Amino acid sequence: PSSLSSLQPAKAIKPIDPKSVHRICSGQVVLNLGTAVKELVENSLDAGATNIDVKLKDYGAELIEVSDNGIGVEEENFEGLTLKHHTSKIQDFSDLVHVETFGFRGEALSSLCALSDVTIFTCHKSAKVGARLVFDHNGNITQKTPFPRQQGTTVNIQQLFYTLPVRHKEFQRNIKKEYAKMVQVLQAYCIVSKGVRINCTNQVGQGKKSSVVSTTGSSSLKENIGAVFGQKQLQSLIPFVQLPPNEAVCEEYGLSATSMPQTLYSITGFISRCDHGVGRSTTDRQFFFINQRPCDPAKVVKLVNEVYHSYNKHQYPFVVLNICVDSECIDINVTPDKRQILLQEEKLLGAILKTSLMEMFGSDVNKLSVNQKLLDLAGNLKNTLPEEAKKPQVQMLPDSETEKPSREGRKIMTLARLRESFSLHQAPESIFQSPKKVKRQHSSPRQMSLDTTLSTVRTQKAALTKDLNCHKMDSNMSIASRYLRKLEDSADSGFCSTSESDAGCSTPEGGSCVNSESVINPEEEFCSSEEQFQNEHLKTVGCGEKLLECDIQFLGAEPKLNQANDRTDPNKLPEQASSSSPKVNCFKSKSFKSEASRCPEVKNTRSSVPSVDVLVEVKKKTVPLEFSMKVLTEKVKKVIQQQQKNTETKNYRRFRAKISPGENKVAEDELRKEISKEMFAQMEIIGQFNLGFIIAKLNSDLFIIDQHATDEKYNFEMLQQHTVLQGQKLIAPQDLNLTAVNETVLIENLEIFRQNGFDFVINENAPVTQRVKLVSLPTSKNWTFGPQDIDELIFMLSDCPGVMCRPSRVRQMFASRACRKSVMIGTALNMQEMRKLITHMGEIEHPWNCPHGRPTIRHIVSLDLISPE
Ligand code: ADP
Ligand code: MG
Repeated sequence: PSSLSSLQPAKAIKPIDPKSVHRICSGQVVLNLGTAVKELVENSLDAGATNIDVKLKDYGAELIEVSDNGIGVEEENFEGLTLKHHTSKIQDFSDLVHVETFGFRGEALSSLCALSDVTIFTCHKSAKVGARLVFDHNGNITQKTPFPRQQGTTVNIQQLFYTLPVRHKEFQRNIKKEYAKMVQVLQAYCIVSKGVRINCTNQVGQGKKSSVVSTTGSSSLKENIGAVFGQKQLQSLIPFVQLPPNEAVCEEYGLSATSMPQTLYSITGFISRCDHGVGRSTTDRQFFFINQRPCDPAKVVKLVNEVYHSYNKHQYPFVVLNICVDSECIDINVTPDKRQILLQEEKLLGAILKTSLMEMFGSDVNKLSVNQKLLDLAGNLKNTLPEEAKKPQVQMLPDSETEKPSREGRKIMTLARLRESFSLHQAPESIFQSPKKVKRQHSSPRQMSLDTTLSTVRTQKAALTKDLNCHKMDSNMSIASRYLRKLEDSADSGFCSTSESDAGCSTPEGGSCVNSESVINPEEEFCSSEEQFQNEHLKTVGCGEKLLECDIQFLGAEPKLNQANDRTDPNKLPEQASSSSPKVNCFKSKSFKSEASRCPEVKNTRSSVPSVDVLVEVKKKTVPLEFSMKVLTEKVKKVIQQQQKNTETKNYRRFRAKISPGENKVAEDELRKEISKEMFAQMEIIGQFNLGFIIAKLNSDLFIIDQHATDEKYNFEMLQQHTVLQGQKLIAPQDLNLTAVNETVLIENLEIFRQNGFDFVINENAPVTQRVKLVSLPTSKNWTFGPQDIDELIFMLSDCPGVMCRPSRVRQMFASRACRKSVMIGTALNMQEMRKLITHMGEIEHPWNCPHGRPTIRHIVSLDLISPE
């Protein structure tokens, strides 16, 4: 004890007072609007309600009120209702295993009390008259008055989160997003609650109440889905048919078929068919349940989407899946919101899901492939093949369409085994992906020819680089132009975007032939990372450019060091030399390169290479320069002062990024930082290079500009900003089957839709979800648009309401229009035309890339580095 007391007095460990604990923890139970509504609806469902009304004001920021016709609360329970960890649903931990209610932690109402103003109206089945209870933030009743109402409970939450000021602000700022998420959560309860009518409305300000989502109390999952998402959605769904895991999948999951519990999981639900276009453009309609409890089983979600993607590459499925499992095999008490659930035999579940989904989708695919065969061979083999071709189809159909999984499962397993033995050690998925493979084969020859073109181009480029070294510019020009023509050819060959982006990759490399930095390749590669580091370092020193030039002298001719070097601060160098030799190496190569790029001096520098190496070796061992440090420092200080006077603008190297596909981001950031909009107009045009590039000069920096890419970007931006897509009137207005929420988003952003060529008639008096009818669609020669694009816009707009956006396919269309409109590579341009292109760059927000991602402008070289004057 004495030794303890001699230590610094520790702060005493004391309990936090219960009120503070309550405040601290409540924000973790009720995380957002979604959790608040979820907890209240769960309570109503737990109370056996068949009718639940959710009333929101200002999207829930002002008020959330949930009323039910459940059993109500008895008077003796009023006190306990809102006390922390007070629940009527379990008594001890062992009850948790069999709990069938949504709630059991007894913290929702108490947390809501801590976070907002709570009033509860309730009338228990056995009570004669109801009661109105007002609570303080500790969950204590502050008012209790009789209140007439029918059996059931109403919980009224005002100003959620106002006791946590920061969260409250954030909450109000993001209220539309919160609202959208809440609706997702509520939809899940609407779908899964059979025989319960749920109705949610929202009122903004003093406006009209609008319906958010509602169900009719049907006893079928399917009808609930229909009520929430419209009948149309149902047409695209297939019921989930459960199968035991097949052998291939078992192997993949490391399961042994014999020791598997056969009946642990029972899965029901619906999922989109996998035909192209039937799925959705986002994951906005995916609902997973474990024992009817809405949850987020991440692995299951991933698996379902992956399997779906392998049949419908560009879409996401609508999913409603209820996984029933013995309650002893799960742990729901993982997070306060109970949306993470731990499962036993998770692998088995994965295997069941995968096998079942593959069979559900695969059977479609099989049907398709049989049909395709018939079509392909129709000309020659019409008479002989159909009979044979039909057979597999007949065999396949019962597998996919029957309702009984158990017997058919075995049949499928043998089928799978058969297929497997024919497929020669392919990955299990590939068995079911025959149509896709066919597609790939179709496209591969094309791909190959493109690749070979590119590789020849690369070889030529290598040659080009070499030749450039020897300063045989003239002979190279022909190679370079051949190279470019090759690229043009592939660009003209019909699939513009592919070849273009490829060309985009090689353009900068092509440009780098002229870049002094890449003249000596091996060394550069050797030290590129250090060099980068060095560059960073130089920046902090403050006068990188000059330092570099100084190094050249320093390394090339040692004696200069002791002279008053009027350029820079070589004193930094010895320091670095002693601290880490690789950097010096790096310096050496770098300075050498810069030297090499000075045409007349090339020979001299080359001959001095060995002496440079020797110098470095010596320095490594002896660190001989330290003694002159102080003298140098002073001298250098003077030099720096002088420099600052002389060249205040030129004292650092602005552009450092290399021209290489891997450095696009760096190069872009650099350009963005260094080149302002007005600077484009100030650029001096040197000329056109190879009929494809404009060489321009700004002060002492030379730039290369891709004439096609830059024009394309400008045209694209103009189209994006100014095009009002022409809509074509439909013969008859079309129903859209939007959810109430999506309908509201659409109505609130009508102008944006109009600019995209979508027009609607709005009937305010029609029932919600039927208020909007599509009357006009955007049209363009080769593009058709439809409800999918509307869905996509709604999805974007619910994230950032009111901000102009375009569906991705409209962007694509603009990109290809812009491409066709723009100056092609190979077109000779006069000064005026080049001037126009460059001026345009100063008129758009982001001139660094064309819409396909190809670079438009790159820095080639700083003339200061080449000639000191
Ligand atoms: P939990 O649901 O985990 O028990 P809550 O804080 O959500 O905890 O609710 C506390 C208790 O209040 C519940 O156990 C239940 O007895 C009662 N209760 C809450 N909401 C209702 C309701 N709508 N109808 C009847 N009783 C309710
Ligand atoms: Mg509860």
